[in-house]
Amino acid sequence: MSKPSPEYDVVIVGAGPAGGTLANLVSKRKAYRVAVFEARPWESLWGKPCGDAIGEHHFAERGIPKPQGEAVLQRIEGMEIYSPKEDVVYKVYGEGYTIDRTKFGQQLLKEAMDNGVEVFTKTHVSRPIVEDGYVRGVVVNTGDGQPVEVRAKITIDSTGSSGPLKRYYPSDWPIAERLNPKDTDIAYREIAYLDYDIERPEYIRIYLNQRVAPGGYWWFFPEGRNRANIGLGVQGGMGYPHPREIYQRELMKRPEINRYVKLVSAMGAVVPTRRPMDSLAWNGVMVIGDAAFTVNPVHGGGMGYAMEAAYWAAKAIDEAFDKGDYSVETLWTINRGFMPTIGAKQAALEVTRAFLQRLSDDDIQFIMEKRLVSEEDVDLLGRKAELDQSVVERITGALGDLVKIVRAAGRPSLLMRLKDMADTMKKAKALYQRYPESPKDLPPWSREVRELIEGFKKRIGAL
Ligand SMILES: Cc1cc2nc3c(=O)[nH]c(=O)nc-3n(C[C@H](O)[C@H](O)[C@H](O)COP(=O)(O)OP(=O)(O)OC[C@H]3O[C@@H](n4cnc5c(N)ncnc54)[C@H](O)[C@@H]3O)c2cc1C
Repeated sequence: MSKPSPEYDVVIVGAGPAGGTLANLVSKRKAYRVAVFEARPWESLWGKPCGDAIGEHHFAERGIPKPQGEAVLQRIEGMEIYSPKEDVVYKVYGEGYTIDRTKFGQQLLKEAMDNGVEVFTKTHVSRPIVEDGYVRGVVVNTGDGQPVEVRAKITIDSTGSSGPLKRYYPSDWPIAERLNPKDTDIAYREIAYLDYDIERPEYIRIYLNQRVAPGGYWWFFPEGRNRANIGLGVQGGMGYPHPREIYQRELMKRPEINRYVKLVSAMGAVVPTRRPMDSLAWNGVMVIGDAAFTVNPVHGGGMGYAMEAAYWAAKAIDEAFDKGDYSVETLWTINRGFMPTIGAKQAALEVTRAFLQRLSDDDIQFIMEKRLVSEEDVDLLGRKAELDQSVVERITGALGDLVKIVRAAGRPSLLMRLKDMADTMKKAKALYQRYPESPKDLPPWSREVRELIEGFKKRIGAL
């Protein structure tokens, strides 16, 4: 493998969904000298374990190349959500795919390489170079034992949820923020060929069951007629058993799962389940994907949002090079694009996530049986992180009719919490829609966000 040059315009650390997509997008302009450093070999690109499901809308809205040919394992038409007793099933429509991550990652990176991007696989970055309040590149281990400095005008940290570069950023930079274990899911999944034809393989299935997956859910995602990606996530920091153990104990006894012909892969990893970091940029650097917590906090889907963060990073790169200014003021473009849209949605969904994690199986069963939150509401929640006014009215109506409905059902506090959640989500979205125009206004805004979300968590006993 050739050695990297001492200097580039852009250096990307990590070629997963975030970094790989960004490499593809920035390569299109053929204007910059770009290097990508990835610790994994080419054969296991995007090799982190995943449910492999991604919505179509991420590609169409952002002009990101779609998975092609062998990268598509199954076209998806929608999702089924099962209640704890599995007798109430919500169907939510929405197109997407289950994908072969490695093949898709290779497709995106191959296109970038054809456009001149230099890709160094099996190459570990040990730290960023921080000088005069800027990130000025990285120190790379090229394998011959000699660390080399590679300088760049803009460095991209797309290193995933463990965020190994963060501890080198000064602690007063907002991008140095680390994950609280309670704001994570520990997830484990197996991919296996099964000895039967999966019914309706075009539907991914999600099972809400706090006994099996405390603070998370378990899933069954078809990857073709005879192959499935099956897994579960549990909330981190709570002392719950490891999901691998629960998988063996609970899922392997189910008749539709305990029918492996061949195990393809069995792995676990951590998923962030909170709002994004308060800023995705600082001087000379942007952080995208899991490293910046850009994941949907409710379902843990992070590939599409890693790609969307990459889309806004590419816009910020263009602007910075057009101006010849790589400071946080110019790179703020990524925040201006991401925060009022996706950031707003993810902040609202962090509130939903905290609420859901405090529900018992009986509560969830009650909400679904009584259709307090309907299929249409779940659809709206998924697309826009909003609960329709009708839900709030339904809840308020039920509260108004407390004696008849609520006392009879024995769930007054549940309804109150549901209303509190809907209100807090609205406030969180409003805060993100007035995201600061400049980095100097970030601290008071960050405080307001923290107080709002932590206040809600305290009220429901989630802190
Ligand atoms: C079990 C499980 C199921 C999931 N299911 C889904 C799902 O169905 N759909 C969905 O959309 N999302 C899902 N997610 C989340 C999704 O996998 C992540 O959000 C997504 O992979 C994030 O992409 P990323 O590029 O930010 O990080 P990663 O995929 O973690 O990629 C980071 C890359 O950086 C490289 N790297 C790290 N440090 C260095 C270094 N120092 N030097 C060089 N390279 C480095 C790594 O090798 C890696 O390739 C799931 C996650 C888990 C754990």
